[in-house]
Amino acid sequence: MKIAFIGLGNMGGGMAANLVKNGHEVRAFDLSEDALAKAKSNGCETFTDAKEAVQGVDAVVSMLPNGGIVKSVYSDSVIGQAPEGAALLDCSTIDVATAKEVTEMATAKGYKMVDAPVSGGIAAADGGTLTFMVGGTEEAFAAAKPILESMGKAVIHAGDAGAGQTAKICNNMLLAISMIGVSEAMQMAQKLGLDPQKFYEISSQSSGYCWSLNAYTPLPGVGVESPADKGYQGGFATALMLKDLRLAMAAAEEVDAGVPLGSRAASLYEDFAGAGNEGLDFSAIIKTYK
Ligand code: NAD
Repeated sequence: MKIAFIGLGNMGGGMAANLVKNGHEVRAFDLSEDALAKAKSNGCETFTDAKEAVQGVDAVVSMLPNGGIVKSVYSDSVIGQAPEGAALLDCSTIDVATAKEVTEMATAKGYKMVDAPVSGGIAAADGGTLTFMVGGTEEAFAAAKPILESMGKAVIHAGDAGAGQTAKICNNMLLAISMIGVSEAMQMAQKLGLDPQKFYEISSQSSGYCWSLNAYTPLPGVGVESPADKGYQGGFATALMLKDLRLAMAAAEEVDAGVPLGSRAASLYEDFAGAGNEGLDFSAIIKTYK
């Protein structure tokens, strides 16, 4: 298949390389020369204009920083430029309203568009083991699925346009809340004199069982190996968690959903990021309880 790829940064770079490995012809566009040079070394054909990159393609995949950029790239350079009927896959994490709006614009012009944000970080993007949560019609999902399978291990149809973004932000709001919960409980156990490893052993096999504790233990040397054991480097950056929480808060407000814990988690991550910790893995929030 001939696929245009727009946005070849930390995530998109590896994803485009996996499309090449799976036999696709990839036409890459990014504003960054470094990103383009890396894409070229991974076997992509590179372009300095997005409109040119999308000429004659079967599909367009994008992995961009935010909703404003996604909207401008699609309205200026993809819709009306890529062949009618092409599959459009936006894998960026953006707000639900923009995802729906861009899909509506694309569908009106005869494209099959999905929002397909990912779970999994840079290692999963490089390794082709991402999980995609997909919003769009059955027809658009069917067109996107084989392309997404070349970049991930799981592809799940969440529902109509915007449902992929909804799944992503609700999941990450839950993750933020659970990581804060685990952090509070571990630090309190420690202050009460309980060995944190004992707390891990007990709670990870009791009703406190959850991914943040069992698979991503936030204290160094306790539980499973995680970014905590590498000085909170790598993993999922606090800045990205904060971005997702802000998207979740905006979506909650739009539909008047009560999210007292989500909103508290957002403000705790806001303070933590503001104190110069944006680059640390999000589990480093446990340090604020010391
Ligand atoms: P990044 O900043 O490394 O990459 C974004 C790329 O988009 C950059 O190369 C940038 O030059 C390019 N870009 C920006 N504006 C552009 C434009 N108008 N036209 C073409 N290219 C443009 O970011 P990333 O970490 O790769 O994240 C991309 C998306 O994936 C974000 O929406 C992020 O929330 C999401 N995400 C990231 C992770 C992660 O661990 N990094 C995990 C899950 C989801």
